[in-house]
Amino acid sequence: MRSLPAVHRLLSNAAIGRYESLLGREWLKTAIGVELDFARAQPDALGREGSTDFGALVGRICERLERVFRRGLVGAINATGVLLHTNLGRAPLAESALKAMQTIGRSYSNLEFDLENGERGSRYARLTTLLRTTTGAQDALVVNNCAAAVLLILDTFAKGREVIVSRNQLIEIGGGFRLPDVLERSGANLVEVGATNKVYLKDFERALSPRTTLLLRSHPSNYRITGFTHDVDPTEFAALAKRVGIPSVEDLGSGALIDLAQFGLPHERTVQEAVRDGIDLITFSGDKLLGGPQAGIILGTTPLIARLRNNPLLRALRVDKLTIAALSETLRLYATGEALHEIPFYRMLSTSLDDLRTRGDRYFAALNDTPCRAEPTPCHAEPTPCHAELVEASAYVGGGTLPEVTIPSIAISVSGMNASALAAKLRANDPPIVARIDDGRLLLDLRTIAPREDEAVIAALNNSFTSSPDL
Ligand SMILES: *Cc1c(COP(=O)(O)O)cnc(C)c1O
Repeated sequence: MRSLPAVHRLLSNAAIGRYESLLGREWLKTAIGVELDFARAQPDALGREGSTDFGALVGRICERLERVFRRGLVGAINATGVLLHTNLGRAPLAESALKAMQTIGRSYSNLEFDLENGERGSRYARLTTLLRTTTGAQDALVVNNCAAAVLLILDTFAKGREVIVSRNQLIEIGGGFRLPDVLERSGANLVEVGATNKVYLKDFERALSPRTTLLLRSHPSNYRITGFTHDVDPTEFAALAKRVGIPSVEDLGSGALIDLAQFGLPHERTVQEAVRDGIDLITFSGDKLLGGPQAGIILGTTPLIARLRNNPLLRALRVDKLTIAALSETLRLYATGEALHEIPFYRMLSTSLDDLRTRGDRYFAALNDTPCRAEPTPCHAEPTPCHAELVEASAYVGGGTLPEVTIPSIAISVSGMNASALAAKLRANDPPIVARIDDGRLLLDLRTIAPREDEAVIAALNNSFTSSPDL
């Protein structure tokens, strides 16, 4: 014990001290304490002469602090096979959208300035034009996210009035956004209609009252009712609202501008269809199927959008210039027909199995000749070689879209090793790699790994195969 350095000596070490301005002194003390405890508990770690190698100890403390620091927002490799993984940041942006953010972020811009007449302009004008041309809507507005879009609509139209929603759509989506709760917070009275599995137009008709202010429908997101079911046709839903002179609202959630059926997936209602069906106000996210930045898009008729624009709450929900830059560029890609090739989500979705297999073969050529020197899992008495192979796997769209639909994919599967220890090791890689564990195997799905990330994944795998699996 006498050989362990004192805490204050470690605190005044220059390498450790560099982390003080990044993490604060408390984290330094914690990391030092943990590593000293570890050194005390493991006499081996004290070194051959019984004295801790001071440099090695400092190195371990710095590594620990580096890991803590990197828990900030960092880029990660998504090997889960879930294309729009909410916890991993949903849609990656197109290169040109990133460039647009850089250009607008670097200098001043005409954000709220009309370059033609030299007067104050609207931050939404260009976005509105692009949204109208790409969707066919009369008018549009963009806010911080889709939840904010729903909130703004309810706050504008529904305070102290009744909103009719069918019982099978009173959903909770990730992050604690519950439609009934949002309705309550906005001061609206929720009128639920229909049975859980079956809802008819006549249920809506019967619930109408002079206090009804909106008819609301919502995409069920990650949830499905199957079997003995009936839903209201959206055209009839919109027509009923028109007949009684109140707006119909549809929260589409993921907001596809491109029909997913062309990728062999089930048809997902598109934004253009909702517009054509005559829905008066439509909301969807910018960072789901659109493949843009986080944003909440509202499409609607000119008078209704004008009322939303006049709500003082809009000022608190407005988007910044970087979002406008990325979203405008993403929409431009749709307008010019480049979206399928330029937006990463659609590129990942349309990669053929053959292409994925070719990449998988390259992985194998590059993996160490003896990739399985790792320690066996503790439960095996005899060392069992781990085994890496190329397997068929199932990828998912994610983001609340088509929750039960699988996309055929190819994955690297590693078995014979402690899968959760290996997964932890890959998460500790720089950049972190997030894999999936399935039936005791570790799966790295090639569909969500960008080809430019292949080298990093191969290096990380080789590295974990040749070192001990317990980090
Ligand atoms: C995802 C989703 C939302 C929330 O979108 P955010 O942009 O994350 O706020 C709202 N409604 C539905 C139906 C959704 O699927």
